[in-house]
Amino acid sequence: MASRKVINFAPGPAKLPEQVMKQAQDEFVSFGESGISVLEMSHRGSDFLDIINTAENNLRDLMNIPDNYKVLFLQGGGNGQFAAVPLNLMNFKPGCKADYIVTGSWSAKAAKEAEKYGQVNYVLPNMKDYTSIPDVSEWKLDPEASYVYYCDNETVHGVEFHFIPDTNEVPLVVDMSSNILSRPIDVTKFGLIYGGAQKNIGCAGVTVVIVREDLLGHAQPICPTIFDYRVQAGNSSLYNTPPTFSIYMMGLVFKWLVQQGGAHAMKDLSNEKSSIIYEVIDQSNGFYCVPVEPTARSRMNICFRIGSKDGNATLEKLFIEGAAKKGMQSLKGHRSVGGIRASVYNAITIEETQALATYMKEFKRQNHL
Ligand code: PLP
Repeated sequence: MASRKVINFAPGPAKLPEQVMKQAQDEFVSFGESGISVLEMSHRGSDFLDIINTAENNLRDLMNIPDNYKVLFLQGGGNGQFAAVPLNLMNFKPGCKADYIVTGSWSAKAAKEAEKYGQVNYVLPNMKDYTSIPDVSEWKLDPEASYVYYCDNETVHGVEFHFIPDTNEVPLVVDMSSNILSRPIDVTKFGLIYGGAQKNIGCAGVTVVIVREDLLGHAQPICPTIFDYRVQAGNSSLYNTPPTFSIYMMGLVFKWLVQQGGAHAMKDLSNEKSSIIYEVIDQSNGFYCVPVEPTARSRMNICFRIGSKDGNATLEKLFIEGAAKKGMQSLKGHRSVGGIRASVYNAITIEETQALATYMKEFKRQNHL
């Protein structure tokens, strides 16, 4: 495989492990004994059924998913789930209500979408900017809600939960698009977990949904059939033509994750990588600043500013240009917040993270304010 000279810190679609890319390249034109590409094969043929079943089994092992949970591989991305979740679950209890814990732009967008399909209760006080997770004593949960929704890692703002919210038996729904499989979780604490593949577990095109069986069968009559979890579960995610190649790529990432030591190994790795960068920031005497409170800092998307919490636009531009010259790409913060964002998903190595840390120290020395 052609060697890659860049370090890709993109927020998603993001870097895939070298080993996965190499295998995909080797098998691209002719998969196994089939003589054809995965791109060209029937989703109902034995080769593809083996690919999708193996992917599901590996995911079940990696996340320790109990038998009373269905695993679905769907299309429509995270935004698709912003609609599919309320369409399937808001009717779970009379009143068609749901609680939304909004800690960043993705959960805010999900709540807005849910308002189309039922009554949304905003659990947290409205926040001017998303830099913390308010104390649980400030939360207003509705015991009559059909579910409680939150986003475990807000990719744009770099806000991550380091605890699982306690919802007192109300089913908990979580968007794990940007930190799925970066640490072990207790699946039994959730009614539904979903995540788009394009950050930690594959490429764009497929979204994993893990849903407890008793939550199936409550879809609103207007729910499109392809978004109806019961229909998809009943058809083993093959109700319509699935995103075959994306499922294949995700399956390769799952195999790689198993070889690496699974979610426990990813937890150690992500703690180590994020500590390397946060340490440089914390020891910079205020040259670098993290707007997010220490208890809610993301291990996946490290968002920081130069000069002050509002940033120094000239220095930040210089930083990003200098990094690009050294082959470090996609460090620009999301356009809605600015600054710098280093996304260090599972495929990013310690060495790549260290290269960024070294550059950050060097940049500080050269541009001391
Ligand atoms: N949720 C989170 C946490 C995300 O980071 C993203 C995209 O970056 C989405 C949802 C939306 O995903 P998609 O672009 O697949 O609709």
